Amino acid sequence: RAKESGKNTFEFFTTDMNAETVSRMQIESGLHRAIERQELSLFYQPKYRLDTETLCGMEVLLRWNNAELGAVPPTRFIPVAEDSNQILAIGEWVLANACQQAQTWLAQGLLPGPIAVNLSGKQIRQPNIVETVRNILETSNLPASWLELEITESVAMDNTHEVGRTLASLKALGVRLAIDDFGTGYSSLAYLKRLPIDVLKIDRAFIQNLHEDPDDAAIVVAITSMAHTLGLEPIAEGIEHEEQFRFLRENGCTYGQGFLFSRPVPVQEMDDLLVESQALRAWGNPDAPHHH
Ligand code: C2E
Ligand code: MG
Ligand code: MG
Ligand code: MG
Repeated sequence: RAKESGKNTFEFFTTDMNAETVSRMQIESGLHRAIERQELSLFYQPKYRLDTETLCGMEVLLRWNNAELGAVPPTRFIPVAEDSNQILAIGEWVLANACQQAQTWLAQGLLPGPIAVNLSGKQIRQPNIVETVRNILETSNLPASWLELEITESVAMDNTHEVGRTLASLKALGVRLAIDDFGTGYSSLAYLKRLPIDVLKIDRAFIQNLHEDPDDAAIVVAITSMAHTLGLEPIAEGIEHEEQFRFLRENGCTYGQGFLFSRPVPVQEMDDLLVESQALRAWGNPDAPHHH
């Protein structure tokens, strides 16, 4: 309509350009300088073994704090960064910084298990993604087995051949692979079996009402048991309540993360958690399993 009547163009854009559009544009232009302005930071959310309640790893979660826009949540800016390809530079920044931090903790003897980094669909479909990951591991001096890459179920299942080949090459580097948000997509179980993955992350949607909704409970039990059958480690995300935790532990879910244990925390707080959990390992039950 704006094109039909030139004189109404201004009016059209001021009245019809909704907050959604404005924000996407602001986000895209703000993101352009986010790295150089040091507006990005990494938060870390600890993962726990549910039977022993010991810290066994962590997930890296990106945060963006912009002077004008404030703290923009990743659910808002990551999709924009994907559409504009900015996720490629941002994703490399995340990987490089996460690996560097993990290596620091590893050298200090503080890293209890792998550090998990989210990879977007755009990143995994880059022809040079394997080289990028290999270079970052080399530069940071982090052994590949300490890096876990989280790829959402829909991305892992989509475009099966190429993504499948890429996952195989990443696996050949020695990194661990996790399927994120599992249960929300349409996995072919036969295909899932052929993918070189190590971890199934059960989507928060099924955990949320676990203790009230028998269907969700049944789904979680089924996914957990299937994971074990396929030789994969099940982990539940979004554990907020004691009842959810107990249900998961009693039904064989090996690992978990969520606000019940800890929110994602800045690097210094994660450092404190690592020191504390190492002290527990050193002074606590000597028979407690160690998770490397
Ligand atoms: P995700 O990978 O599934 O990450 C889990 C999200 O759940 C995180 O949200 C985390 O803060 C949140 N969470 C953890 N425990 C709980 C809980 O007990 N209750 C609730 N309500 N939420 C919980 P966050 O940090 O806002 O990230 C959202 C999504 O943004 C991530 O989902 C991931 O898809 C994406 N993302 C975050 N960082 C990155 C990144 O560095 N690269 C890429 N490509 N995507 C990222
Ligand atoms: Mg994730
Ligand atoms: Mg997830
Ligand atoms: Mg999720």
